[in-house]
Amino acid sequence: MRSISTLSSQADCMLISTDTLRVVDLGPHLLGFYDGRVSGRRAFSAEANWLDDGGYTLGICSYAIYCGHHALVYDTHLSVAHARRIRDILSQRGIETFRVVLSHWHLDHIAGNAAFADCEIIASDATVELLQHNKALIEAGNLDGAPPIFPLIMPTRSFSGETTLDVGGLRVDLKPLDIHSRDGVTLFLPHDGTLLAGDTLEDTITYVDEPHRLTVHLRDLERMRDWSFSRILPNHGALERITGGGYDASLITATSDYVERLLRAAGNPALQPGDLKHFIADHLSAGAVTYFAPYEAVHRGNLDKVATAPG
Ligand SMILES: [Zn+2]
Repeated sequence: MRSISTLSSQADCMLISTDTLRVVDLGPHLLGFYDGRVSGRRAFSAEANWLDDGGYTLGICSYAIYCGHHALVYDTHLSVAHARRIRDILSQRGIETFRVVLSHWHLDHIAGNAAFADCEIIASDATVELLQHNKALIEAGNLDGAPPIFPLIMPTRSFSGETTLDVGGLRVDLKPLDIHSRDGVTLFLPHDGTLLAGDTLEDTITYVDEPHRLTVHLRDLERMRDWSFSRILPNHGALERITGGGYDASLITATSDYVERLLRAAGNPALQPGDLKHFIADHLSAGAVTYFAPYEAVHRGNLDKVATAPG
């Protein structure tokens, strides 16, 4: 088992480059690890695959909250190679103890778990259940296709409801939200009001993965709007926005409006303007979200999924 794991990790490190990973300082206790959104570049393969099309092409940022010698890593990124880089960078800054919190079960957020196999990996009960249910498919590369994640290192601790952690004296609130994926977990940092939103919010648009549950997602978007925060940092967004103070509540409104428009447009081509640029023109011109052309493909996929979703 150990030798298979080692081989797999070595293969992963050879296949996936981290040379476009950008480390960004987001405050005295927060680092971002941003990769992708690099013109003309793919990280894994020219063929369609989850790592490039769901992560690298759109841009993906995971985070670490740190204080003293302790760090809490929020998602393990696109590959074991990425997660090892993140761990090395934190170690170089004097971090000695690591914990991981997973934002949800999707592959671009859990692929690097093996780099933290000796650490506590925390996830919601729902995330654990979804990972367990899909473990064999994920490890074989048969869930969303290649690359497989083998071995899939499972969470070691789970929770339900809201939970608070202490990271070297800093309080971190884990706040579940049923948006984008039923097992979403966001992190709120009371010391400066930052909300790490995982994939509950995304710039340019949300990636629809549960088309039959969008009305539930809308309800939790309403709930989220009532929270007070100083900035929102999503996992998929524009690097300049993330480093430039983050997003505000208008990102929540833009997401709700987009989902409502998708539901209205489903199966009704007359309501479908030709492209994303027109579909959300008001929110683009208001600056709530920023246009990024690869989201046109996400938008087309979203329209298809919603139009063909059962019930
Ligand atoms: Zn994602």
